[in-house]
Amino acid sequence: MNLLGLGKRSLFKVPSDDAFRMDLGALRDRVRADRENGDRPACVIATAGTTNTGSIDDLSAVADLCVAEGLWLHIDGCIGARIAIAPDHRHLVAGIERADSLAPDLHKGLQAQFDVGFALVRDRRKHRVAFAENVEYLQKISRSVAAGEFLHDYNLDTTRGFRALKIWMMLKEHGVAKFGRLIDQGIAQAQYLTGLIRRQPLLQQMAPTVIDIVSFRFNPGGMEEGALRALNIEIMLQLQEAGIAGVSDTTVKGHYCLRVAICNHRTRRADLDLAAEVV
Ligand SMILES: *Cc1c(COP(=O)(O)O)cnc(C)c1O
Repeated sequence: MNLLGLGKRSLFKVPSDDAFRMDLGALRDRVRADRENGDRPACVIATAGTTNTGSIDDLSAVADLCVAEGLWLHIDGCIGARIAIAPDHRHLVAGIERADSLAPDLHKGLQAQFDVGFALVRDRRKHRVAFAENVEYLQKISRSVAAGEFLHDYNLDTTRGFRALKIWMMLKEHGVAKFGRLIDQGIAQAQYLTGLIRRQPLLQQMAPTVIDIVSFRFNPGGMEEGALRALNIEIMLQLQEAGIAGVSDTTVKGHYCLRVAICNHRTRRADLDLAAEVV
């Protein structure tokens, strides 16, 4: 929003429900309220896989609302767009194909080196007119080296690296099916870890496990939120410093928690057993 020059004042954060999904009633109310106030809602940003908990909005329902209201649908698929190629879990992102624009981030969970974040825009003409510049030193001509389309007419950079090459070669070398299986494997491992957490009364699950992200914390009971936070920060640091697990952290609905994002194809269930036991 800042890059567009609209500023954060133009961004309204739609509340989420208990499963950390966008509350569609709140979205509908907001669109109506904006119009009543003379504001012009333009775009809804849905999320396929939030950073904190991996929750996925009801993309089909959001798409229906956007069609009915004449709004652009952008889907942030940085975490979860890749799930569309995972046979056992692709239903979780049903509706993602209806986006007007979609941002996948293949250095997250597709085993790619960064940086290969990108955006897909459905309407080629709208995409082009947003970025194309007509300057005297970059004139198209029908023959020779300046013939053909200028890629810089589709984004901010004029000169840039060939980031797509590594993804292309990765997919050529291993095939889409293998990456799909690895994504399913990571999600199954997250479910396994969630089972360990549920069976251990000292561990508290902090959000539903939907994909390969698990939020939980050590909670022996009877401790204040601040003390729980300090204790769990120490647990995270010790896990990292001992080289046991690269666990990160976050805060969901005001509660501090540890965050496990399983995105390494070398992760084994034994690693998760160890991490849970050490916590
Ligand atoms: C990581 C992330 C981004 C930003 O991606 P970068 O590759 O770090 O620029 C955007 N949205 C979500 C949901 C993310 O997890």
